[in-house]
Amino acid sequence: MARLYLALLDVLTSLTSEKIVLDKNLKISYNMCSISMKGSHMREIVPPTECPSCEAPLEWSNDLLYCRNSECFSQSSKKIEHFAKTLKIKGLGPASIQKLELSDFADIYTLTKMMIAEALDSEKVAEKLFFEIRNSTNASLNLLLPALGIPLVGKTASAKLSSVCKSIHDVNYESCKEAGLGPKVTQSVINWVENEYPFCELPHSFEFDQPVEQPSVQGVVCISGRLKSFKTKAEATEALNERGYLVKSSVTMDVTHLVNESGIESAKTQKARDSGIIVVTHLKDLIGELHGIA
Ligand SMILES: [Zn+2]
Repeated sequence: MARLYLALLDVLTSLTSEKIVLDKNLKISYNMCSISMKGSHMREIVPPTECPSCEAPLEWSNDLLYCRNSECFSQSSKKIEHFAKTLKIKGLGPASIQKLELSDFADIYTLTKMMIAEALDSEKVAEKLFFEIRNSTNASLNLLLPALGIPLVGKTASAKLSSVCKSIHDVNYESCKEAGLGPKVTQSVINWVENEYPFCELPHSFEFDQPVEQPSVQGVVCISGRLKSFKTKAEATEALNERGYLVKSSVTMDVTHLVNESGIESAKTQKARDSGIIVVTHLKDLIGELHGIA
């Protein structure tokens, strides 16, 4: 009985966005269907046979009832809700999804500003939502893939794939293995790529974010005292950064070069010498070019 009770609860919560109230007598109610577990007396639960949302016949699977109707509004609206949330489309919540009569992801991108204004009865809201929707077309596959509601494919799987693939076209058994995806996730994502992607009408590029290539660091520089080759330390820092040097204001462990053009034996210079850091007396020796000498 408990199993059936939980199954029924699950069906109701998964198929509707309405709240189910469980009172202190352990009575749950949902529309026409209600059960009571008062005291030791239990009334038999009659599970629904039709989807409360689309009225399609429900199917049992592992003690749970499922609506298999692909056109079911409750299902599609939940999927769109997840899509909008993942792509951070502000203003596209359950109420708007219903009013805009969206039934799949691609519908979102066929909306015009006028259609939104009409459905939501506000030009101001339409203006904002239209912008949010346009903006979401820039989302990379890193964000888009978890938004599509592909079973088992979330942000983690997507991030892993992005480390070995440039676009959706690179997603195959080999690249999934290289990315470290398990067999179930791999099968799920490949199924989507083979069976659903060809019919996908989303305007996105379907390309992953590419990791930003870090320029190799030539060394870490600390400047001591006044400079002769540059007017300011800021200018010198910029020139050094351009050539792949990092600039630190004190002699830290990672400093490789100390620049001392003034010739004054400062505490920094002393410390650098003691630590075996290369002391450079002309910055041009380091960056190989003269800059801004007055
Ligand atoms: Zn349904």
